[in-house]
Amino acid sequence: NKFEALGLSEAIIKAVDEMGFETPSEVQEKAIPILLDEDTDIVALAQTGTGKTAAFGFPLIEKVDSNSRITQGLILSPTRELCLQITNELKNYSKFVKGLRTVAVYGGASIHDQSREIKRGAQIIVATPGRMQDMINRKMVDISNIGYCVLDEADEMLNMGFYEDINAILSHTPEDKSTWLFSATMPREVSTIAKRFMHDPVEITV
Ligand code: AMP
Repeated sequence: NKFEALGLSEAIIKAVDEMGFETPSEVQEKAIPILLDEDTDIVALAQTGTGKTAAFGFPLIEKVDSNSRITQGLILSPTRELCLQITNELKNYSKFVKGLRTVAVYGGASIHDQSREIKRGAQIIVATPGRMQDMINRKMVDISNIGYCVLDEADEMLNMGFYEDINAILSHTPEDKSTWLFSATMPREVSTIAKRFMHDPVEITV
């Protein structure tokens, strides 16, 4: 299996086999070894359909401690659909990782149900910025122990006016976390976010 060479563990390789992935995509080949190896920030220029979800999803699953119920990874994504899609993918990827729970948080659905899901323990939360900010304000979620924050489709999130929410959410996370930013395009607003919140990010283009 060609994914083994990237440094992924047996549990993920098993899931990869089951999903029928044969060869790592370019963004996976470039990002996964870096993200597994060091706690670095990364800016990846990658479109949808390039396999970017696994490029951040595999390393995130490897990095979080599934024996701890504390929320350690946060993925911000622009829409409810994308949020659910990422959550679904992560659940497939982590199928053989015992104890790992990924919870989706997005607007237009019961905040109390989502709060209850988080209380049951969620190492990884996949959220839209508006609902996430709402849950932080209501003290329904604690992201003070986040070690990894993924900004997925950062250009889209900024287009949709989520700058203030992202800003506020990140201010509740530890300074020493790693931030992984994925974007299809790199407008000035995205560079601003990268400069403001990231430390010497490794840059990847596919
Ligand atoms: P994404 O760009 O993350 O939205 O992924 C696009 C689709 O490709 C998803 O349905 C993934 O499950 C699938 N996929 C991701 N990586 C691979 C791979 N290495 N081989 C085959 N399919 C993949």
